[in-house]
Amino acid sequence: MRYIDEYRDARLAHALAAEITRRVTRPCVLMEICGGQTHTLMRYGIDELLPSPIELVHGPGCPVCVTALETVDKAIQLASRPDVTLVSYGDMLRVPGSRSDLFRVKAGGGDVRVVYSPVEALKVARARPERQVVFFAVGFETTAPANAMAVWQARREGLKNFSMLVSHVLVPPAIRLLLSSPTNRVQGFIAPGHVCTVMGYREYEVLSRDFRVPIVVGGFEPLDLLEAISMLVAQLEAGRAEAENQYVRSVCYEGNLPAQRLMGQVFEVCDRKWRGVGLIPQSGFRLKPEFAAHDAEKVFDLADAEVDEPPECISAQVLQGLKKPVDCPAFARTCTPENPLGAPMVSSEGACAAYYQYRRHVTGKSDVRSPKSEVKDGRLDVR
Ligand code: SF4
Repeated sequence: MRYIDEYRDARLAHALAAEITRRVTRPCVLMEICGGQTHTLMRYGIDELLPSPIELVHGPGCPVCVTALETVDKAIQLASRPDVTLVSYGDMLRVPGSRSDLFRVKAGGGDVRVVYSPVEALKVARARPERQVVFFAVGFETTAPANAMAVWQARREGLKNFSMLVSHVLVPPAIRLLLSSPTNRVQGFIAPGHVCTVMGYREYEVLSRDFRVPIVVGGFEPLDLLEAISMLVAQLEAGRAEAENQYVRSVCYEGNLPAQRLMGQVFEVCDRKWRGVGLIPQSGFRLKPEFAAHDAEKVFDLADAEVDEPPECISAQVLQGLKKPVDCPAFARTCTPENPLGAPMVSSEGACAAYYQYRRHVTGKSDVRSPKSEVKDGRLDVR
């Protein structure tokens, strides 16, 4: 497949792994922020291709995983109302709230619909003017422009029955929190390419400088990640700490300025609670006051409630790179994709789901194929 196969070329992957092996002279801990990157690393066994001094830990970049338990409970509360149609991305339906999940609400007769874009939620609202349609707007900076556009459009059309339960989170404040922690082990970051496609990577320069840490914006294919790791190792070995861009085919320094302008018209930065991590100052978007008529928190007067995570779930430590999913006593025992205890086992981008899907619980490590079996038609092939 054009523009995909080039980035799965087995010969180049092994050449990059060999280059990294030649470069690295000391142990280092690297973190990929995005859950999509985590899945690529697991899927292609890249962690096993790397030399042993390099340890990969997985960051808080799965939007489903970090949506606060209280916010999931609010979505459940809304979906349980007879006058509300709750519209959501499919991943959110099985995320456990404190007592139930959206899937169970739907099974019990709640009007919960799955969409792939907020534009579809607008269509539902236009088609059902007698119902209140609420879109569950989760995600990082990547999904914020489309959500901003939907709210902006709803206001322009005067759609009185459309609102959003907004739970947007921002990556740089989370990296700042990780680096400020006395328990931090991470020495270099692979920044999320899709977030930087929207936002650029100016903010990552500031983080690199403030914390003397290398950050490389990386893509999502195997060669992207191997090249990003190679760039991080080169910086660490040379004693440099800079923000660099591996994902040049998508990311530019300033990002997508029209998208940023639209987001700036609709959203404002706010403190945000991250599931498993806690409150991170200035780490989220909420709707500006002039869009209050489309803000589900205000339309339905939703109150914040303090709720506790299941005590056996160590997702807080997994999301901060302090532990790996296989370190969790519940992993693949009481917590499985069929019966998830925490969000990282539910989401298609969750680290626990990646370890489960690629059989870390069976092998205890990645199921890396021999060089022969890794190659199919000259490209890395998936299991
Ligand atoms: S395996 Fe399950 S219980 Fe353990 S950290 Fe992951 S989601 Fe939580």
